[in-house]
Amino acid sequence: MRAAAPGERVAARLSGSELAAALRARTADAASELAAAGTPPKLAVVVATDDESSHWYVRSIAKAATKAGLDCDVVDLGPDAPDQAIREKVAALNDDVGVHGIIVQTPLPPGVATRDVVSAIDPAKDVDGANPASLGRLAAGAPAFAPATAEAVVALLDHHGIALAGRDVVVLGRSTVVGVPVAHLLLARDASVTVCHSRTADLAAHTQRADIVIVAVGRPGLVTGEHITSDAVVVDVGTNPADDGSLVGDVDAEQVGRRAAALTPVPGGVGPVTTALLLWHTVEAARVHAGRLAGQAG
Ligand code: NAP
Repeated sequence: MRAAAPGERVAARLSGSELAAALRARTADAASELAAAGTPPKLAVVVATDDESSHWYVRSIAKAATKAGLDCDVVDLGPDAPDQAIREKVAALNDDVGVHGIIVQTPLPPGVATRDVVSAIDPAKDVDGANPASLGRLAAGAPAFAPATAEAVVALLDHHGIALAGRDVVVLGRSTVVGVPVAHLLLARDASVTVCHSRTADLAAHTQRADIVIVAVGRPGLVTGEHITSDAVVVDVGTNPADDGSLVGDVDAEQVGRRAAALTPVPGGVGPVTTALLLWHTVEAARVHAGRLAGQAG
């Protein structure tokens, strides 16, 4: 992004680094306490693809887990893994008392029904809120793990002191990974939420009246300066590989950065908080497990 001219508006940068570091520290403390008490928290990640960016993401989770003192098993079933083998692995991880969190990394091999596979994850171990049962509980206001990215958006806004109650929030994208769960989380925080998607007739008409715009689409440059008012807070969830190998969001950071009140960077915004929350959820799942064991012993 070019440097701002004198007097030119520059959006506040809503970095995720500080929050992610605080979450990692809290996770490391809790993990070491749990390990000392006989329940070392453990995450299992099931992979069945040769997609390099998925492997890169899984490696980054495993590295962060190890750094925080969590065990992390990456179970690579290969890009041709049949549906049954993936389901059997998920069932075995559900039954494994030493595993507290399970992530099934997408994409899965062609022909494998992703929704059926993630529906088999035990909700108590569903640390990335992938099972539709977790989303249903979230929508009903019942305790459940939210998808980490959706929770990261809200956590990042909270961290930067951005009020949600009574604000008009427009969410672009309606996936069950980001758009829909973030809408439920925001409703639970008393925001007025509009969800837009590829069939929305006039995107700008919605975004221009929003206090907060959350963009989770997967199209670089979709949101430009024209979409945003000067008071708006913009959260860019998009992560798209650029031609030069870097990562870019869905927001035109140059234009929006000169117009909005605040903008999350890509990379360094929602992404690091997402990874930190995945590990925190695993520790929370391990705590519940340890509590159940203690209850049985007592
Ligand atoms: P997805 O499943 O492909 O969903 C994309 C959504 O965008 C769909 O609801 C689609 O609408 C909507 N859409 C497509 N074109 C649109 C347009 N022109 N105007 C308005 N909406 C449009 O993607 P996703 O999994 O939610 O991911 C979205 C982005 O977030 C991607 O860049 C992904 O890499 C990123 N992401 C980042 C993290 C992180 O940790 N930072 C985590 C997950 C995802 P329809 O429903 O009508 O098709």
